[in-house]
Amino acid sequence: MSVTVVGSIAYDRVRTPFGERERMLGGAATHFALAASFFDEVRLVGPVGDDFADLDVLRTRGSNVDDVEHVVGGETFFWHGEYGWDLNSRDTLETRLGVFESFDPKLSDASKAADTLFLANIQPDVQRAVREQSRASFVAMDSMNLWIEIARDSLVATISMVDCVILNDAELRQLTEKPNLISAAREVLAMGPSVVVAKQGEYGAALITGDEFFSLPAYPLETVVDPTGAGDTFAGGFVGWLAGHPGDYRAAMAYGTALASYNVEEFGTERVQRLTREEIEDRVQHLGAMTRLTISA
Ligand code: AMP
Repeated sequence: MSVTVVGSIAYDRVRTPFGERERMLGGAATHFALAASFFDEVRLVGPVGDDFADLDVLRTRGSNVDDVEHVVGGETFFWHGEYGWDLNSRDTLETRLGVFESFDPKLSDASKAADTLFLANIQPDVQRAVREQSRASFVAMDSMNLWIEIARDSLVATISMVDCVILNDAELRQLTEKPNLISAAREVLAMGPSVVVAKQGEYGAALITGDEFFSLPAYPLETVVDPTGAGDTFAGGFVGWLAGHPGDYRAAMAYGTALASYNVEEFGTERVQRLTREEIEDRVQHLGAMTRLTISA
């Protein structure tokens, strides 16, 4: 079994109220892979430029980089962002697409054969090109406000070809133009997927299917340093768990939540790179205890 992920592999410049990094490894596919690699073999698909020097980090916990394409003469995707004082707001100051500008994904046979596929946040036409090559039996995807604004039709076409959509709750509302989250999720389910996950930042995440609603708070932390990649790390834990436990959505929510909580404790990939399985289990157990509800008559 394996999980294929396509998406950005990036260098990020980030400033938060707690510090800054001029240039650190980032990207949606990178954060996803570092999290999902705890549960399954991960195969990364995406381009990097001549400046890329972190292939070893992408290989953490055995992830496969055969489909990471080195574009000669190109620059790795670069993103520059800055967070507000409570870390709930983020401004993008610069995005340089670099090698993504001309990215035409070609999956190897092994990546096509993976039974799980994650389409991390990239242009929805590219997501669809990957979806069409893959033989995965479970496909999940992410996206962002930019594509809702400039490529909505393409995004809806991609959504109609996946099983699970993982978006911020604001993005779900923006996509459907429905102010109510449950109605918005229902509308996305009507586009084709059977599961919608609404990420709610420090308030946790909610899962909506045709007949189930489930919600988990974020893991309570006093120290949050850098939220960059939290959503992709959540997706890595969620989708990674489901790859080995199809349909076990509640546990998948707990693993996604636990992984994301570690990601935000340090900058970029720093914390999740050296995370252990025991540390993950510890927070998953704590989340279970924290949210148990027994009502006696
Ligand atoms: P998250 O905090 O989970 O939304 O993910 C942040 C990561 O997404 C960063 O590491 C960035 O490199 C990457 N990123 C930012 N903007 C884009 C974009 N337009 N397309 C693809 N990846 C992006």
